[in-house]
Amino acid sequence: MDIGDGVIFGKEEIQIIAGPNGVESYSLMRKVSECLKHNKIKIIRGHAYKPLTFPYRSKQYSETQSLGMDWMDEIKSEFNFKVVTEITELKYLDRICKTADILQIGSRNMQNFELLREAANTKLPIILKRHFGSSLRDFLGAAEHILVEGNKRLILCERGVSMPHTHRETSRFALDIQVIPALKEICKYPLISDPSHASFWAPWVPSLTFASIAAGCDGIIIEVHPNPKKSFVDPLQPLNFHEFKKLMKTSRAIAKAVKRKIY
Ligand code: PEP
Ligand code: MN
Repeated sequence: MDIGDGVIFGKEEIQIIAGPNGVESYSLMRKVSECLKHNKIKIIRGHAYKPLTFPYRSKQYSETQSLGMDWMDEIKSEFNFKVVTEITELKYLDRICKTADILQIGSRNMQNFELLREAANTKLPIILKRHFGSSLRDFLGAAEHILVEGNKRLILCERGVSMPHTHRETSRFALDIQVIPALKEICKYPLISDPSHASFWAPWVPSLTFASIAAGCDGIIIEVHPNPKKSFVDPLQPLNFHEFKKLMKTSRAIAKAVKRKIY
């Protein structure tokens, strides 16, 4: 699936989507962009609208919503990235579509069928994240809501499921590695993995990334922040620039070992 300019999901190349949890400021996005360029990354997370588990940071994010998209316009023209933006509510769709190359439907909205339908009708590629309590059947049912609208530019995303026995509080979800070969067996759409949101815990992100690549993923979402502790939300989750660089090096080697490629 060609996102444009030769950025292809589902063939030999594994696409890396990286960036901070949310678009916090222009200067943050610029710093991250320089790091991504340095690591040959083509797709940036540009989430200016965020669903938040706790409401306490919503003020900061509500101040930067459409402004955040304006910053993403600047970033995009300067760095030539493809931009992924989450659509949380229908009222933001028009603004997001002016900038984003890929829409993300977050796990919490996986079964928001009206949102799925309207997002599908934009004809933009859509990353559909699996809800953390969803069976494979419900995940595929949600995906059908996009496909029946005639939008076949669908990218599925495994981002961890709720488990009663996750090892520590910092590990909120468990990445369902087994769903990767399972989906590959029954479904022709590209499949990506989000180790950052699955583990919620940066030290585990590299191993989950390597496992996802080895299991056959077509892309990976990685949270990156110059100073993770300062992240508006979920500060335990992002990799810093040094950790990200290291992760990319090993990821490239693993991709090669399974006959895939990361540029
Ligand atoms: C995200 O990608 O920032 C996000 C909120 O993901 P999820 O919907 O998987 O929690
Ligand atoms: Mn997040």
